Amino acid sequence: MNDHTGPLDVRTPGGALLLDGNALRDRIVAGLREVIERAGSPRVCLATVLVGDDGPSQVYVRNKHRQAEKAGMTSRNETLPATASQAQVEDLVAGLAADPGVHGILVQSPLPSGLDFDAVLRHVPADKDVDGLTEASLGRLVRGVDGLVPCTPLGVMRLLEHHRIPTAGRRAVVVGRSSLVGLPAALLLARKGVDATVTIAHSRSTDLVEVCRQADIIVAAAGQARMITAEHVAPGATVIDVGISRSETGIVGDVDFDAVQAVAGAITPMPGGTGPMTIACLLENTLTAARLQGVW
Ligand code: NDP
Repeated sequence: MNDHTGPLDVRTPGGALLLDGNALRDRIVAGLREVIERAGSPRVCLATVLVGDDGPSQVYVRNKHRQAEKAGMTSRNETLPATASQAQVEDLVAGLAADPGVHGILVQSPLPSGLDFDAVLRHVPADKDVDGLTEASLGRLVRGVDGLVPCTPLGVMRLLEHHRIPTAGRRAVVVGRSSLVGLPAALLLARKGVDATVTIAHSRSTDLVEVCRQADIIVAAAGQARMITAEHVAPGATVIDVGISRSETGIVGDVDFDAVQAVAGAITPMPGGTGPMTIACLLENTLTAARLQGVW
């Protein structure tokens, strides 16, 4: 995707390249707008489904709509109360799936307790699955077939590409193995053309410090506040922080930024790294979805 001019080059106090997700998101969103305007501004529509009143989810959804507008897309925000039944949520998503005016569907997680997210997801057709989370999308990813890829791992790849971080033949460690982040990140890093040698670590891994110290690239997606310390990081390695933990002082990542930036060659801030890139890639996926549906 066109991200405009040359790579962004901002350094941390310790000299690491700062992988600034806000700045790259802005470039990607501007690039999407350009592509859409050049095509004569066809209608490209993202629909979000928000059930209940979870505060962080409301903020995420609002940000997605704000950025969609900046990208020249239209968006619909479908909301249901926390008391909605499974059938009501599934009917809503099935309606969006059948609506030719909607090109991308995102069901904001988590759903209120008692609702089955996977059952809702089954109503999202692969070509509208802008979150890349359905079995069909994940199957395409495993098979190496073109499709819609989960947004957060795709954002990680866009940061690496934009900053020209070498991956071929390099060792990457992904901490976390969920189907939302860790597993697709590992698959993308190991893909032909990216060609990293990938290790997946998880809560049962032993010697995590040793495993991480072997890595040229660490992707931390465990949701454990500041678990990656300077001790885990080889000098010059690239460290990408995906994890989000909420503390009284705000959002905390999986990476101890202050200590690690003094050792790493490149590092994402938290917040302002992978979060905004997730939204940029959601919109990139929405454009891809519109094309898959023949918008132009
Ligand atoms: P999950 O809880 O589904 O998965 C966490 C993974 O981390 C699991 O595979 C788990 O291992 C592993 N893990 C947990 N503790 C440790 C540990 N001490 N050492 C090694 N591995 C560990 O979370 P998600 O994958 O959905 O999300 C991961 C984090 O990323 C969360 O903090 C989430 O909030 C954040 N996130 C951030 C986004 C962004 O835009 N920046 C977007 C999406 C998520 P096991 O499988 O053995 O349990």
